[in-house]
Amino acid sequence: MNSFWKIAVIGSGPAGFYAAGELFRQKSWEIKVDMFDRLPTPFGLVRGGVAPDHQKIKSVTKIYTRIAENENFRFFGNVEFGRDIFQADLLEHYDGMIYSVGSPADRSLGIPGEDLSGSHSATEFVAWYNGHPDFRDHKFDLSVKHAFVIGMGNVALDVARILAKTADELAKTDIADYALKELRKSQLENIWLVGRRGPLQAAFSPAELREFLELPDADVLVEADALELDAESQQILETLASNDTKKNIEILKQISARDASGKKRRVRFLFLASPVEISGNDKVEKISMVRNQLVKQEDGSLRPQATENKIEEEAGLIFRSIGYHGKPLTDLPFDKKSGTIPNECGQVKDTENGNVLRNREYVAGWIKRGPNGVIGTNKQDAVETVHRMLETFLNEKMEAGKNDVNPDIVSLLENRKVDFFSFADWLLLDAHETEAGQKLGRPRTKLTSVAEMLEIIRKKS
Ligand code: NAP
Repeated sequence: MNSFWKIAVIGSGPAGFYAAGELFRQKSWEIKVDMFDRLPTPFGLVRGGVAPDHQKIKSVTKIYTRIAENENFRFFGNVEFGRDIFQADLLEHYDGMIYSVGSPADRSLGIPGEDLSGSHSATEFVAWYNGHPDFRDHKFDLSVKHAFVIGMGNVALDVARILAKTADELAKTDIADYALKELRKSQLENIWLVGRRGPLQAAFSPAELREFLELPDADVLVEADALELDAESQQILETLASNDTKKNIEILKQISARDASGKKRRVRFLFLASPVEISGNDKVEKISMVRNQLVKQEDGSLRPQATENKIEEEAGLIFRSIGYHGKPLTDLPFDKKSGTIPNECGQVKDTENGNVLRNREYVAGWIKRGPNGVIGTNKQDAVETVHRMLETFLNEKMEAGKNDVNPDIVSLLENRKVDFFSFADWLLLDAHETEAGQKLGRPRTKLTSVAEMLEIIRKKS
């Protein structure tokens, strides 16, 4: 009998790697981890979500690479759960599974005109400029003058910043080549950031907001009266507000104190406004919004309520950046409202079967708790899941390798003719990308086509 506990981790983003790292930290357990990802490349949103001008954040991949160097770790890239492998396969080959697949979908505004050409989700745009193979052929009409980003979270700031930066600035990053080429031709003059609530309720972080003070070729504007807080908000600022919120208000005040200096582009923060309609003949031409007021709820929170006051603006591009949303996984329960897999401390809860806890299936990261927090938040999240899993194995007196069938999962993938990538393959691609990038003074030039990645691996190995 195999004395190793074999764990499958589905999804190679931060939550998946932190889970693998925590499994390997267990001194009294012998554990092997096989990690699967639908893309040939690992690291999830660190590669496909973190903005190209935020290279420092991406250095976290060094930690993940060290985890991957463990002799009991294997990576299977280009293997999609629900297409190439299924829950039944995992149950046959592994003692436990951790699904850490993130929240790949987006939320919609539910307003007329949202489906017009020129109206996109921020997730689509982010995946496009980051070279995600599924999004490389998407088109964004950057010949228009006015773009609107709906939402006031960090993703909205990323989108607005990438639109506002000059091509020369972006050329120093690892932005996808095709995106750089398109952004170089951009005719955008106005980039609006629209928040349905006030500056005190903005979801972005001060470090990200501060970057707007340093845009060389874009003026940044905040209406001064947006910073005149109502009595309720002023009281919150003085008593309950977090340090981050206080810092945000300070930075917004600095922005609002500046005059526009005739730069090529303008980024405009518009608070207390909600889009109600997007219109145009066959593409986005206009956005209609209402002004909101904040109304105190029973739980003490301040929610937006539409007033009679309307705003109409010419618009050519609209990005809704109002949060990510999870997608259901084949054979796993799913809570449509939260977009998560129901769970108790990471242990999958079979809500369709009387809330029975599944002993061998677990979740970590956004598919467990919803799309919030920063990369580091996934560490404590994954640690909780791993400990819940190991405690359950002990409590249920489970035996290592009991469900493991021969041959190995590799034979199954080969029989199904899946072109899977190993971690060694990724290291070859990584070297290829960084070498090509460094010749141009960039951190890397990203490969964005799976076929091209396969060709490089075949040539090099
Ligand atoms: P988010 O932080 O949840 O922000 C969503 C924004 O959309 C909020 O301003 C929210 O306003 C607004 N919104 C929601 N529904 C709306 C509606 N129907 N109409 C208008 N506005 C609406 O989401 P995110 O920006 O997608 O970010 C996801 C997570 O990734 C966050 O935890 C974020 O911090 C993290 N992230 C971090 C970084 C970084 O650290 N550099 C970069 C990117 C992402 P309300 O508050 O009024 O609901």
